[in-house]
Amino acid sequence: MRTPLAAVCVALSLCFAASASAATTQGGEPHTVKPEGGALDLISSSFGQRSRELEIVYRSAEPITPQLLAEVNGGQICTIFEQASLAARAVCVTRADGKWRIVSRGERLEGSVSQPRESELRLRFEPAEAKLKVGLADVYVKATAAGCSAQQAKAAKVTWSGAKIISAAVLALPCEHRLPRVGNYQARVWDVAVTGCRRSGAGQVSRGPSGKRVALTYDDGPSTYTPAFLRELRRLGVPATFFVIGQQVSANAALVRSILRSGSMVANHSWSHPDMGGGGAAASSQLRDANAAVRRATGFTPCLFRPPYGSTGADLVSRANAQGMTSVLWSVDPLDWRMPGTGSIVSTVLRQASGGAIILSHDGGGPRSQTLEAMPQIVRTLKRRGYKFVTLTELLGYPERIKLVK
Ligand code: ZN
Repeated sequence: MRTPLAAVCVALSLCFAASASAATTQGGEPHTVKPEGGALDLISSSFGQRSRELEIVYRSAEPITPQLLAEVNGGQICTIFEQASLAARAVCVTRADGKWRIVSRGERLEGSVSQPRESELRLRFEPAEAKLKVGLADVYVKATAAGCSAQQAKAAKVTWSGAKIISAAVLALPCEHRLPRVGNYQARVWDVAVTGCRRSGAGQVSRGPSGKRVALTYDDGPSTYTPAFLRELRRLGVPATFFVIGQQVSANAALVRSILRSGSMVANHSWSHPDMGGGGAAASSQLRDANAAVRRATGFTPCLFRPPYGSTGADLVSRANAQGMTSVLWSVDPLDWRMPGTGSIVSTVLRQASGGAIILSHDGGGPRSQTLEAMPQIVRTLKRRGYKFVTLTELLGYPERIKLVK
């Protein structure tokens, strides 16, 4: 039952739309109301977005038990989003088969529900999954305790004897609650821009943790071959990591952006591909200039560096680490730059690959059609062996840095 009241934002504490200037944390203070009594008596809710996921927190005056939200008996807490040009969408939490569930328009959403306290539920889900649009939304919350409709019916039950009332059931306490009591909250669904990634652990690696995951890496681009590599990756449904040469980035800015957009990763392969094994201040400039070029083109700052020629040393590694990058070598090398033939590239990779493999290849620096032609057979065979292809940052477990944008 929706009270058709104008959207109001009574006071600042009621407005969950955050200021436009804030960086990665956008969320509202919880709005708290007095308890009404009865079942599933919500007293506060808040909406926020700190990551790709929207977080909704509900607090009740009493424990929120699984029984109260039993799906079979109609128990649910729903947040109803009203956005311009969209039909209202309810995102509900309920309990079925011993698990919390997030449901919208009859479909289960990915996402998570946690209960940090008996009287509190936290939902996290990606707004796009609930078909919410980026932008403002008018929002209200409706909590319905399981068995609510039965309880209300009972409340009207009166026993008569002749003209006398023998007994009348005590008025049932409310089992439906609305937040806010009147009007709506205003919330915002933010878009997400990936601005970087965060390295951790060893300063230099040549493989990832064992397990059924491997990473394809391509060095020396972007080049005229790179678009064909991206098309092939898309066709095969796998990502890769591209170690780009900084001085080639500005002329190919759109291409570098499309690497990131396609779900692959961009990494630093120095500004101009010198031997940097000796380290020194010049090495720091090479690292910094290449990252600056990528940042200018994409808004993204790499957290991975591959030393040209694999020439590395303690000083270089610490300089890369100081700029937020892990130095990355490889565990599989088909020597594709020598153009040994597609068959040779395929067989070397398949022979050397194992869990956590970092596979070295090249999408720039010379004719790369053999490398490109080798890709489908490598991907299909390793997939058949049960391997999953991931970006290097995913293989190493590095989280992405994101920025919320309007
Ligand atoms: Zn190289």
